[in-house]
Amino acid sequence: MEQDRNHLNYSKIMGALVSKIRERITALHKIRVRTLVGEILVLQLLFATLVGVSAIVGLWWTSSWVVSDNLQRWAVQWVSELDDLGVPLYTSQDQQKFLQIESYISKFPEIDFVRYYSKDGEVIFSEETATYRRSADPPELTAAQFATLGASTTLEAPQIVDAGGLDGAPLRVGESVRDYFLDTSNVSDSLMRISAPVWVESMSSDGLLNLSDEAAPVKLDVIGYVEVGLDFGIYKQQLTRNIINGSLVIAAALLLFALIGRFIFRRALRPLSNLEMPLTELARGNMELSMPRSGHKEIDTIADTLQSTVESLKERDQRLHRLASRDALTDLVNRRYFMDELREVLRRVPQGRTGALLFLDLDQFKYVNDTLGHAAGDRVIVQVADQLHMELGDDAVVSRFGGDEFTILLYDLDRDAAANVADGLLQVMRTHPFVEKGRLFHIHCSIGLTMIDSDRYTVEELLARADMACNQAKARGRNRLEQHFVGSGEAKQMASDMNWSERIKAALRHDRFVLHYQPIVDTRTGEPAHYEVLIRMRGESKELIPPDAFLPAANRFGLISDIDRWAITNAMQAKAKQTAQRIHDCLTINLSGKTIDDPGLVDWVRGHLEKYELQPESIIFEVTEQVAVENISIANSQIDALRNLGCKFAIDDFGTGYSSFSYLKDLSADYIKIDGCFVRDLVESKIDQLIVSSIAQIGQVANKFTIAEQVNDVETLGMLDEFGIDFAQGFYIGKPSPRISRRTVPISIDAARRRRLRAKR
Ligand code: GH3
Ligand code: MG
Repeated sequence: MEQDRNHLNYSKIMGALVSKIRERITALHKIRVRTLVGEILVLQLLFATLVGVSAIVGLWWTSSWVVSDNLQRWAVQWVSELDDLGVPLYTSQDQQKFLQIESYISKFPEIDFVRYYSKDGEVIFSEETATYRRSADPPELTAAQFATLGASTTLEAPQIVDAGGLDGAPLRVGESVRDYFLDTSNVSDSLMRISAPVWVESMSSDGLLNLSDEAAPVKLDVIGYVEVGLDFGIYKQQLTRNIINGSLVIAAALLLFALIGRFIFRRALRPLSNLEMPLTELARGNMELSMPRSGHKEIDTIADTLQSTVESLKERDQRLHRLASRDALTDLVNRRYFMDELREVLRRVPQGRTGALLFLDLDQFKYVNDTLGHAAGDRVIVQVADQLHMELGDDAVVSRFGGDEFTILLYDLDRDAAANVADGLLQVMRTHPFVEKGRLFHIHCSIGLTMIDSDRYTVEELLARADMACNQAKARGRNRLEQHFVGSGEAKQMASDMNWSERIKAALRHDRFVLHYQPIVDTRTGEPAHYEVLIRMRGESKELIPPDAFLPAANRFGLISDIDRWAITNAMQAKAKQTAQRIHDCLTINLSGKTIDDPGLVDWVRGHLEKYELQPESIIFEVTEQVAVENISIANSQIDALRNLGCKFAIDDFGTGYSSFSYLKDLSADYIKIDGCFVRDLVESKIDQLIVSSIAQIGQVANKFTIAEQVNDVETLGMLDEFGIDFAQGFYIGKPSPRISRRTVPISIDAARRRRLRAKR
C-alpha cells in the first residue's frame, strides 16, 4: 500500500517535471529567431569543427603510429646491439662488459630496462635505467615465449612476432636472421617489450680441411635471450600535450573566426537587411517608401524589382480608388462618393455652414434613346455631364447618381443663391444645343432643390427631399425648378413615400408583381368578352398589396411607367399562352399618364406584339378620362398610333370630368367605360339611370362600345341591357382572380324575355 502511494507520488512528480521541460522547450522555440547570418555562421562553425576534430584525430593517430613504428625500428637496433654487447656475459664474467651495457643503455632515455636470460630462462643480468619508475616489475619471459624465440632462429624469413597487436615487417639486421618477440600487451600502455634470442654462429664440421669452394655450413647456437623494455610514455605525454595545445589554438581560432565572421557576414549582408524595414512597411500597406540601393548588382536588382512592384501597386491603388469613386461613363464622381461628401457637408452644418442639394433629372430622356439608340444616349449623357461640370467648376460636386439623374452639392450659400445656380443650369440646358448623329437638339431637365441647413435629417432623407422636389417639377410640366420646404405633414408623407419607392423598386427588381384578371361580359348573353388586367404587388412576406397602396407613390417617384411596362409584358405573355379557343378574348390593360406621354411607347408595344405573336385587336388599352383630357393632343396622337397598330382603346372613369361629353367627340376611343359611381346604385337612382342611358345612346351614335363597371347584382345587369349598354363588369360578373375564368353569367329572366320579344319584332 505504502509502496503504491510512493509510486504514485513519484509518477506525479515525474509527470510535472516532464510537462515543465516541455513548456520550457516550447518557450525556447518561440523566442528562437532565425537569422541568415546566424545560420551561415553555425554551418561554417560546424564544418570548421568537423575539419578540426578530424585533423586532430588524424594527427594523433599518425603521430602515435610514427612514434611506435620508429621505436620498433630503434628497438630492433638496440636489441641487436645489446645482443652483441651481451654475448661476453655468457662466455666470461667480465665486469667491464657490465659497465659497457650500463653506459650503452643510459644513452637512450627510452630504454627502461634490460634483461639477459640464460639458455634455461634464468635472469643472469638485469639493469634498470634512471627513468625506470615502475612500482611492480614487468613479468619475466615465459617458457612458451622462450620456446618461440628459440625456434625462430631456424626461420627463413625473420619477423617481429607481435604479441600485443602490432604487426611487424620482416627485419634483417646486419647479416643475422632472427625473430624478435615484441610484447605491447601488458604492464602499461606505454611499455613495449622486445626480446630476441642471443646466439653464436659456429661451423658444423671441420671447415679447415675442406678445400672446396663451398662455404662450410653455419650452425646457430642459442646461448640465451635478451629482453629490452622500452617506455615511450615520454613521447605520448608530449604528443598529448601538443595535441591539447593545438586543439586549444584551433578552438580559439574558431571562436575568433566566429566573431570576425559574424561581423563580416553582417556587414556583407547589411544591404539585404536594409530591405527588411521597407518590406515590413509595405506589408503594413504603406506605399510611400523607397527601396534602398546598395551598389551591389544582386541587391540592386532586388531593390529595383521591389521598387517597381511598389510603384505598380501604388498605381493600381489609385486606379482602384478612382474606379470606386467615379462613374465609368461620365468620369463624374459616383453615388457612393457623393453620399460621403453630402455626409461631410451635413456634419459641418452645426458650425453654421449651410449647403444646397440639387437633384437633376433629364426630361424625356427615353425619347433620345428610342430615337437615336442607346449608344448615342450614352454620348448625350457624357455631354450633359461635361456641360454641368463646365458650368459649376470645382466649387460644386457634381455626381452622376444613376441613369439620367445627376446630383449637385453647393457649398456655403443660402436658398436664393442656390436657386439662382439651379436656374442658371436650367437656362444652360435650354439654350445649349446637343449634336448627335448630325442632328441638333436640346435636352431639358427638371431640378429639385433642398437646403442642407439642419442636421436633423440624414443624407438619405435629404436626397429623398430633393428627389421629391424633382418629381414635383416633372409633374408640373418639366424643364423647371421646384424647391422643397419642410411642412408639418410633409415629413411623414416623405418618409412613407420613400419607403414605398424602395419597396416598389425592389419588387421590380425581383419580379414581385402579380396580375389578376376580372371578366367583362356581354350584357345580352352574359358571356365573357374581355378581361381587365389588374396589378398587385407581393409584399416581403408574400402578402398581396392592392394597387391603391403603392400606385400613388409609384406615380410620385416616376416608377409608374416601369410598372405599366411590367404589366403589359406579363399580360401579353399570359395572352400568348392562351389556348386557341380563347383567342378572341381581349385583355384590357391600364396605362398611366406618364406612359401615354412616352414617345417610345408605340414602337415598344409593336415590338412586344411581334415578340408574342399576338393579334393587336386582342389588346385594349385603357386610360382614365382625366389623363386623356389633361393633355388631349399628345393622348390623341398616341391613341391614334396605337389604334393604327390594331389595338383598341378605352376611356376609363367616364363621366367624372366636368365636361366629359364635350371631349367625347374628340377622343378617338373604341370603348367608353362608365365610372362605377353611376352604376352601383343604378336600380334605385333615377339620375344614374338617366346618365347611363344617355351615355349608352351617345356611345351608339358615336359608334363606341359602352362598358359599365361596379355591377353588383342581376337587376343592374338587366337594366344595363335594357339601356343598351354593351358590356358589364363588377363583383356580380366576377371578382379579379389570378386565373382567367370563362364562366357565363346568368342574365335575368325579364331581360331574356325582352330580348326574345325584340327579336320577334
Ligand atoms: P422623365 O422626363 O420623366 O425623366 O422621363 P425620362 O424619359 O427621362 O425617363 P426616366 O428619367 O424615368 O428614365 C431615365 C431613362 O434614361 C431610362 C433609360 O431609358 C435611360 N437611361 C438610364 N440609364 C442610361 C444609360 O446609362 N445610358 C442611356 N443611353 N440611357 C439610360
Ligand atoms: Mg429623366
